[in-house]
Amino acid sequence: MPYKTKNFSNNRNFNKRSFRPKSNNRRGPKKDYIHPSKFIKQAKPIAHESYEAQYSFDDFEVNDLIKQNLKNKGYQTPSPIQDKTIPLVLSGRDVIGIANTGTGKTAAFAIPLLNAAMMSDTFALVVAPTRELAQQIDSEFRTIARGSNLSAAILIGGSSMGVQLRDLRNNPQIVIGTPGRIKDHLERGSLDLSKFNFVVLDEVDRMLDMGFINDMQLILSKLKDDRRSLFFSATMDERVKKLIESFSVEPVTVSIKTGDTSDNVHQDVVYVNHTSEKIDKLHTLLVDGNISKVIIFDDTQRSVEKLSNELISRGFKTDSIHGGKSQAQRQRSLHKFKQNELNVLVATDVAARGIDISDVTHVINYSTPNSYDDYVHRIGRAGRAGKIGYALTFVTR
Ligand code: AMP
Repeated sequence: MPYKTKNFSNNRNFNKRSFRPKSNNRRGPKKDYIHPSKFIKQAKPIAHESYEAQYSFDDFEVNDLIKQNLKNKGYQTPSPIQDKTIPLVLSGRDVIGIANTGTGKTAAFAIPLLNAAMMSDTFALVVAPTRELAQQIDSEFRTIARGSNLSAAILIGGSSMGVQLRDLRNNPQIVIGTPGRIKDHLERGSLDLSKFNFVVLDEVDRMLDMGFINDMQLILSKLKDDRRSLFFSATMDERVKKLIESFSVEPVTVSIKTGDTSDNVHQDVVYVNHTSEKIDKLHTLLVDGNISKVIIFDDTQRSVEKLSNELISRGFKTDSIHGGKSQAQRQRSLHKFKQNELNVLVATDVAARGIDISDVTHVINYSTPNSYDDYVHRIGRAGRAGKIGYALTFVTR
């Protein structure tokens, strides 16, 4: 039987109780002041060739099926985070991975985790902050485990409970989910984590920012004591450290962070004298700016919807994603964007978290982000997988 996971793109159920972050409220979020100079930086492309991987995928003691699937995916050499993390995890260590977005961290945990699940009685839980990221992880897992008989469940809000309950009854070895929905299943008694002996927490800093600390602690406390734990985070502050220290055993820290911002993104500002000038300036940029695929960020569900409609009326192939749309609608918009049926996607921060679309050339911050941390995250959507990206931030003089 193939690696089994469900595709939720046709699911019409939308769970109204699902997590809505504060930043999506209608009046707009409270913003940190960020000096415009922090939005300007020349790209310093990471020369992938210049990193000499210590290992090849063939060196890793993992199942041949995984190696073949990696070849089929076109993965020739391990990325730095993979090169450093995989041997440690294979040797049984707990690992904290500090890595920017787009560095290949998903496969860094997917490869040893899937190998353990294929070779032994391993039950693994992967927790991610958003539905989109959980789905991306699921998709990476599916291709790396293709042809195995592993079964999986993906537990995310906005998707059918019925399907998730059915998948859980199959006793899946892999469970991927967001904290809120995982907690729902724990409370219902439909998920028993006591046999889970492998856990990955992805984007820990994001989950803490989103207020998931209690859910994460609850989830971690239900797992088997004797387990392997991997934590991935773009930043390592006191909160992240505290959580990890209480739930892991002598973890090894692997860091491949190169700076505050994604090094392969050219960053610049677009000055306007008044907010009323923004739309025409954006129009000009979209026409003249060599922009082939762009994510435009704005503050609220309402402003995103308004901007998207305006761009559509001006003839741009545009759609929007925000927390006010159902999961199915968000998936449809993302799919069209990925397939190049659209080249402009207008988004709120939360909806765009974790999105990995390799050919996004530009990120435009139509409104300034709430915090510098959000800025770093936004611009990380461009310049993925070693490609040069561009980030433009509108600033009112
Ligand atoms: P991630 O940071 O896991 O979201 O991965 C970023 C992008 O890099 C994704 O499009 C992956 O498919 C790609 N990727 C990950 N590992 C490798 C590798 N070893 N070789 C080539 N591409 C990779």
